[in-house]
Amino acid sequence: MTVHVVGAGVAGLAAAVALSDAGIEVRVHEAAPMAGGRCRSYHDPVLDRRIDTGTHLLVGANLSALAYLRRLGALDRMIEGVPAAYPFVELASGRRWTVRPPFSGMISAFRLVALAALNTEPEEASWRLIAAVFGRLTSERACRPWIARAGVGEALIDPAVVRLGERLCLGRRLTRIDAAGDRARALVFGDEAVELAADDRVILAVTPGAAAELLPGLVVPTAFRAIVNAHFRVDSVAPVPTLVGMTGGVGQWALWRGDVVSVTVSAADALLAEPAEALAGRFWREMAAAFGLSGAMPPFRIVKERRATIAATSAMERLRPAARTRLRNLALAGDWTRTGLPGTLEGAIRSGEAAMRLALARD
Ligand SMILES: Cc1cc2nc3c(=O)[nH]c(=O)nc-3n(C[C@H](O)[C@H](O)[C@H](O)COP(=O)(O)OP(=O)(O)OC[C@H]3O[C@@H](n4cnc5c(N)ncnc54)[C@H](O)[C@@H]3O)c2cc1C
Repeated sequence: MTVHVVGAGVAGLAAAVALSDAGIEVRVHEAAPMAGGRCRSYHDPVLDRRIDTGTHLLVGANLSALAYLRRLGALDRMIEGVPAAYPFVELASGRRWTVRPPFSGMISAFRLVALAALNTEPEEASWRLIAAVFGRLTSERACRPWIARAGVGEALIDPAVVRLGERLCLGRRLTRIDAAGDRARALVFGDEAVELAADDRVILAVTPGAAAELLPGLVVPTAFRAIVNAHFRVDSVAPVPTLVGMTGGVGQWALWRGDVVSVTVSAADALLAEPAEALAGRFWREMAAAFGLSGAMPPFRIVKERRATIAATSAMERLRPAARTRLRNLALAGDWTRTGLPGTLEGAIRSGEAAMRLALARD
């Protein structure tokens, strides 16, 4: 039996690594020239530094994500904030305080934490998803921040790429699934068709739009929310990555890692039309206030992820499909499938592992 995993985002990689560890033959097919999907690190030529697609935060409650890192031997590529403590700064007044969850300050941090976890304004978010997030933040350990030491690519992607080796094929886009009755019969990659043996399985771990094109009739979420990140290369160096929540401005979180300060705005659709230079100016003034930085604006990179995650609304919840499909040998994975969680690394990894179990259990 071979399991074909299509899509090497975190969901596909989690499925493939679990399959590989179980001794199952696996092939991963990724359309892009690199693995990681929305969770990657890459060299930015303006900053001359490796930066992440966006600041990614895990918390201690993300048990599947931490287990995935442990499986890869990559837990030490993350830094666990012990004990859980989140410094905040109010930009206008300079007032500083620290939220020490779960008992102190959670109310003042509610909006920023909800925005970060849901990538959707709390007022329009599904109460079920809000409860799924906050219902897990019940102990100090569950609230601890886990931040990638060097970058999300180094922690979550590179070790999986090494583990999979030649079983991961990059630049290989699935263009069609040939089906007969209730089974997928062949995977078509441009000019090449891969016939599926009777016991082969497929895990489709692509984006919702791609899945809907490949499986006509599949209902998928259609509304997304943006995340905007600004990265600045500064003169000073932070000895360990430092995450600071910010209120009263545009930026919501600042992560200082090495000599790069990155600011994140979730549910950032209103910022998409604003030119990069203007956004950078606004963010830099806030960074300067938050960290006491001075001088002219340093080199920067603005990254606008238009479709960072699906909108965490009740309407989109109703459109999220289960892993099981009408094709008995094909299961779905991805943070947008029906995970019970918002579009997050934890949801993506859980979905990949659930699709793997389904693929092995079914015929
Ligand atoms: C800026 C930003 C910040 C974020 N911050 C956080 C955070 O702090 N914490 C958190 O938990 N989550 C965060 N997330 C969300 C997290 O990145 C996603 O939940 C996760 O990466 C989704 O993984 P996935 O595998 O489901 O999807 P994707 O990463 O989208 O992977 C899908 C893959 O399928 C490939 N593909 C598509 N079509 C085809 C095809 N036809 N054939 C072959 N391959 C195909 C794509 O190239 C892609 O590699 C953030 C996301 C962004 C964008």
